Amino acid sequence: MPGKNDRHTLKSRVTSILTGVLIFIFAGVLQKTYQSGSLLNYNLPDDQGQSQFSEKIDIAAIYSGTITKNSSLYNELMSSPASREIIAGITSRLSRLFDLRRSRPGDSFKLFMGTGDTVLAFEYMTKDWKRYRLDREGDDYIATVHDIDLTRKVKEKALSLGAHLVGVAPIERMDGAPPELHPRRLLPEVKSLISMAYRINRGVQQLHLRGPSPMPFSRFAGLEPRVRLDEMALDLANFLEDMNYISLPIPSNQYYYQEKGTGEISHKHVAMAAGIGRLGRGGFLVTPEYGGAVQLVTILTNAPLLPDPMLHEDPCLGCPQPCVSICPVQAIRRDRDRVMVMEGKEYRYGWLSYLRCLWGCGGMVMGDRFYALSDLPMPKLEEEDDAEKVRVEFLLAGEKRFPWDRSYRGAFTYIACSKCYVICHPERLKRK
Ligand code: SF4
Ligand code: SF4
Repeated sequence: MPGKNDRHTLKSRVTSILTGVLIFIFAGVLQKTYQSGSLLNYNLPDDQGQSQFSEKIDIAAIYSGTITKNSSLYNELMSSPASREIIAGITSRLSRLFDLRRSRPGDSFKLFMGTGDTVLAFEYMTKDWKRYRLDREGDDYIATVHDIDLTRKVKEKALSLGAHLVGVAPIERMDGAPPELHPRRLLPEVKSLISMAYRINRGVQQLHLRGPSPMPFSRFAGLEPRVRLDEMALDLANFLEDMNYISLPIPSNQYYYQEKGTGEISHKHVAMAAGIGRLGRGGFLVTPEYGGAVQLVTILTNAPLLPDPMLHEDPCLGCPQPCVSICPVQAIRRDRDRVMVMEGKEYRYGWLSYLRCLWGCGGMVMGDRFYALSDLPMPKLEEEDDAEKVRVEFLLAGEKRFPWDRSYRGAFTYIACSKCYVICHPERLKRK
């Protein structure tokens, strides 16, 4: 017969086993929450607050607090290491953004201190998830307002519409864009850019790489995702407009200016600015989840959405570059880069010969795997990425290749290549 002590030991063992099981289940739930969070590409405010400038400057200390029933922001700040002058400067600048009399118990703040008496940034978060932020720039502060709750609703809506990835960029990240591709040209009051990605079906990708038929890829990797993205973009823009934010959906890349070889804006640059991926060796967007096999669309809006941090990791590091070796016309070069600047940081990505790619994608190269339509020789052009000159050559060549092509004016009826971004998949990328 077990004694009282044995019963007690047994009871505590059962209790610890049950506790262990509960911790295990809870850890599983936490992990799941984290995973779906990364799919949402959604950042918690804490993470966001620091990631916004962690690369640029050194934070000596973060002082944070919550407004209580018997305190005020001023009183709370007075217990911080910042001097009275700094506190007066912060509260006066903040009062231009936000009526401090509306501050409520439960609102919180963060003071990011540099060395000495400097304040690098100040952040005030209301209970309903509106964030007011001052970031030091030279001798002054730049003020921003972000609605975190609205951002969450917009992202959830995007995913419910069918987007596989969604991210937000502030318009300032497009400062380096050429004027003819700048989003402000289309919506002068734009504050935020929403980028949505639709992944390409894996079976369709594999078929396209093996090569027996081009049709599923043309339909389900090209046309259909773009039609869906356009519909999603319109629905999401209307969702925002129902909340009184002017919003403009920009059609995905099935519509573009043929003479310039561009669309209204560069969706891939916006997607990079929104933290969905990085431009890689092949010149296309590479995402951690789906590699290069995504189609993209953009919505411009004046809604004050919370930006996502950009991806800092270069996806091409250590990759054996199958995008380069698979190209039938050597359009992608290992030794030639394009450079762009976002938020003061320089990013390099692969240069692509527009001439060569158009010849490859237009089926002007023979070979079983590439559904060639003809083998008309590629013209020699000094500037292989001068879209206008390349387009003229392509139209002239297209008229020669088949009698029926005259009526299509160089158009082709299915996608003949696109191998570079299809072969760029996370499972294929062998890291060092
Ligand atoms: S295949 Fe590799 S090198 Fe090419 S774009 Fe993708 S990650 Fe970069
Ligand atoms: S789409 Fe084809 S032709 Fe164009 S760069 Fe990619 S692999 Fe080369």
